[in-house]
Amino acid sequence: MRRGTNLPRMGDFNQTVVLDVIRRAGGGLARAEVARRTGLSAQTVTNVARRLLDLGLVVEEGEAARRGPGRPGTLLRLNAPSRFAVGVHLDPATMTFVLLDLSGAVVARAQSPTPVPEDPQAVVDGLVAEIEGLIAAAGVDRDRVLGVGIAAPGPIDVEAGVVLDPPHLPGWHDVPLRDAVAERTGLRAVLDKDVIAAACAHLWAPADAAGAGPAHPSDFVFCYLGTGVAVSIVLRDEVVRGISGNAGESGHLVADPDGAPCWCGRRGCLGAVLRAEALAQQGRAAGVDLPDWGDGTDPRAVDRAVAGLCAAADAGHAGAREVLALAGRRLGAAAGVLTDLLDVGSVLVGGPLWDRIAPYAEPALTETVAQHPVPGAHAVTVSSSGYGPQVGAVGAGCILLGRAFTPRPSDLLLVS
Ligand SMILES: [Zn+2]
Repeated sequence: MRRGTNLPRMGDFNQTVVLDVIRRAGGGLARAEVARRTGLSAQTVTNVARRLLDLGLVVEEGEAARRGPGRPGTLLRLNAPSRFAVGVHLDPATMTFVLLDLSGAVVARAQSPTPVPEDPQAVVDGLVAEIEGLIAAAGVDRDRVLGVGIAAPGPIDVEAGVVLDPPHLPGWHDVPLRDAVAERTGLRAVLDKDVIAAACAHLWAPADAAGAGPAHPSDFVFCYLGTGVAVSIVLRDEVVRGISGNAGESGHLVADPDGAPCWCGRRGCLGAVLRAEALAQQGRAAGVDLPDWGDGTDPRAVDRAVAGLCAAADAGHAGAREVLALAGRRLGAAAGVLTDLLDVGSVLVGGPLWDRIAPYAEPALTETVAQHPVPGAHAVTVSSSGYGPQVGAVGAGCILLGRAFTPRPSDLLLVS
């Protein structure tokens, strides 16, 4: 079905296009340069800039360098502290909170253990208290807070804002998390799956803060290691969400045909060999003395065991180091399948588990990917997300900022 547009929608779209160009420039742009980069007429840019100035989203600052005859023009720069967004990452073991300014920079952060992960009400109470505490501690005007982006383990119902039946959150069934947070805080809220949010951290924020190299790759595979393992795909600056917003399930990608059996009947599935509990099991089998994690249903106990494994690696335990290096090689094998399939040149890795094991796993991952023959004449680079364990929370905040300020051609279309 083909749908049309109207003038107000075109105006709003152009406004987000101009803001996007100014935001990405970082250092400020003259109106003439905005016109050149967007293809909009000088008059349109002038009109849009006036609206953005009125809204306080941009400020005028300094003069552009003179280029040829005529006045050089005043620079337009993003007014980063004009708006804020809260990003929340609900991980079964840890809750992470960030406050982002309009540029995507983290201006405040907090972290706390997930209270009684199996009790959704206790978790919502904890989330709301931490969100309020974060905003109050940062001292920002609440009217400038656009809302809360929440990243949660999947599967989720994106439309309804409901967490369905996440395997690592026993006791959670159809929890209306988005509306619960919105009602309790009075702020707009959005809910997304954690791995999708994590990738989005690298779509909005400045490249230097994201640690993704000198410029953002527009096409990349994002491997997320938390309590479980998941993979997001970003193509042309857009994250692939799938038809239900639940893309990213990579648990049964075979990473090692000789690996441990998976409940699906095959061996060496990514989820079976790389999830946190599997690493703890491998560590114990390698002779590392670890605190007991019971039947694996308490994510915090599993987390403590993984911390023990990493501490043993830090202390020089060869078996512990080999477990973590093997994890890197296995992740590399799976990543090679995806980079081949998609013909992309970047692999980004992040998440709370990755942050811990990266010192030992990243060299092995990089080596495995480098040895993988690449179809086409380009290299595949591997990097760790510069956001560390906060990547999901930052990404959730970025999604909220993006909803308000990212130009999407689909926004032009009239809904019948
Ligand atoms: Zn499997």
